Amino acid sequence: MRTIDHWISGSLTPSTSGRTSPVFNPATGEQQAEVGLANVAEVDAAVSAAREAFTTWRRASLSKRAEVMFAFHRLVLENRDEIARLVSIEHGKVPSDAAGELARGIENIEFACGIPQLMKGSFSEQVSTGVDVYSIKQPLGVVAGITPFNFPAMVPMWMFANAIASGNTFILKPSEKDPSVSLFMAELLKRAGLPDGVFNIVQGDKVAVDRILEHPDIAAVSFVGSTPIAKYIYATGTANGKRVQALGGAKNHMVVLPDADIDMAADAAVSAGYGSAGERCMAISVVVAVGGIGDRLVEAISSRLPKLKVGPGTDPEAEMGPLITREHRDKVASYIEGAPGEGASIVVDGRDNDLPAEGFFLAPTLLDNVKPGMKSYDDEIFGPVLTVMRVDTYDEAVDLINRHQYGNGTAIFTRDGGAARQFQFDIQVGMVGVNVPIPVPVAYYSFGGWKSSLFGDSNIYGPSGLEFYTRNKTVTSRWPDPSTSSVDLGFPQTR
Ligand code: NAD
Repeated sequence: MRTIDHWISGSLTPSTSGRTSPVFNPATGEQQAEVGLANVAEVDAAVSAAREAFTTWRRASLSKRAEVMFAFHRLVLENRDEIARLVSIEHGKVPSDAAGELARGIENIEFACGIPQLMKGSFSEQVSTGVDVYSIKQPLGVVAGITPFNFPAMVPMWMFANAIASGNTFILKPSEKDPSVSLFMAELLKRAGLPDGVFNIVQGDKVAVDRILEHPDIAAVSFVGSTPIAKYIYATGTANGKRVQALGGAKNHMVVLPDADIDMAADAAVSAGYGSAGERCMAISVVVAVGGIGDRLVEAISSRLPKLKVGPGTDPEAEMGPLITREHRDKVASYIEGAPGEGASIVVDGRDNDLPAEGFFLAPTLLDNVKPGMKSYDDEIFGPVLTVMRVDTYDEAVDLINRHQYGNGTAIFTRDGGAARQFQFDIQVGMVGVNVPIPVPVAYYSFGGWKSSLFGDSNIYGPSGLEFYTRNKTVTSRWPDPSTSSVDLGFPQTR
């Protein structure tokens, strides 16, 4: 069985812990590798390498750091098919979707290529006679990222591009379910000229995460994953004095007003609900039909589902792949099973399919008449199950969304600009789309939900990401001028 190693100090480092976790091909159900799970000593070795590398990397000039980012960008573009293949074979998403993930990840490298501009501080001349004040940004030191299975290339790029470019050294703890692509990115970073030890990977589970959270030499932790773990990471990391940003789960509503183009709304709901088999934190999972359009909307959505091609990533026509594990597939199916008992109706049942039973497939499912209090509404399902709710008014739709525990993304479909503007004002959600179902901000804005979708004060990537990985130092300076020098015991004032 192939084993998947750590990456420490610029080379593959086999785990010696004796603990491993299986890595499956979700389309066939076969175990294709096993990944070593780090013990405390292995995490400590990665942190030592990163701490050592920090002493020189923080001295590298901004032009040198930009040069490495530009070279990495070129290598990622040259190897995009291989990256998409690695994502597809372990995650299960179809290659076109993996290519989309990569394109959105690459934006973050492009942002980091502008590091000389981004690291500019500020300067005030003559705050007092002969005295200047300036503020500079400096890296934190060793920082860590803990990432989820659903974007094994893009989410690490959200973190390490800014972290490294701004002079930190980095420890990545990828998801143990699809760990290979991170190792390939490590190789590309090395080929791009990144010194050894600046980027390290520890494969692992809770043992590795807990050591990261308590290690005294790690200054900051970025986490993306489910809400219960995000809460834990935030509480534990901050209790240990670290800067923490912890992004959690989601339940994204798409409001369709009566004046919307129903076909356009149905296309958007199907694309955003079932793309990547619904395993996206910005997937649409609830369509809220306002004011009597429910029947038309349900008809328009359900008529599109038989045309979707579900299959393995190796099938060039497949639009949607399997779920990540059998356990997760069965958990998602349990929401369909329980829906009628709670009063919802199954319009299309994805369990009825002729897909290979060995793979972790579940075809698109549509539930109607879903209400708060039902598990299929209250929980994040994270699978290809789209639910429809019917409300009479815009106010009811807004109230519904604002009362939900999650506040990651939302969208409104309407031709009424005033209604869209009101929605953007009223809604308690961090990322809003107007006729755009998946409003993931471009890399030069920042990404972050509200409520139980983010713990901490900082959004991820873009300008907020850069702030997260740097700290300000403010210098007050006077050049000696003997002609003005005298003893003065008063408290320094501006003069
Ligand atoms: P997860 O929370 O199970 O795992 C995320 C990371 O935490 C992994 O690296 C995992 O190894 C680690 N982990 C798991 N259990 C742990 C424990 N008990 N203690 C310490 N560490 C632990 O999430 P997942 O299933 O990999 O990813 C799916 C989830 O991520 C969904 O909830 C999804 O909404 C969320 N997500 C959120 C965003 C966002 O930007 N808000 C983006 C992508 C995914």
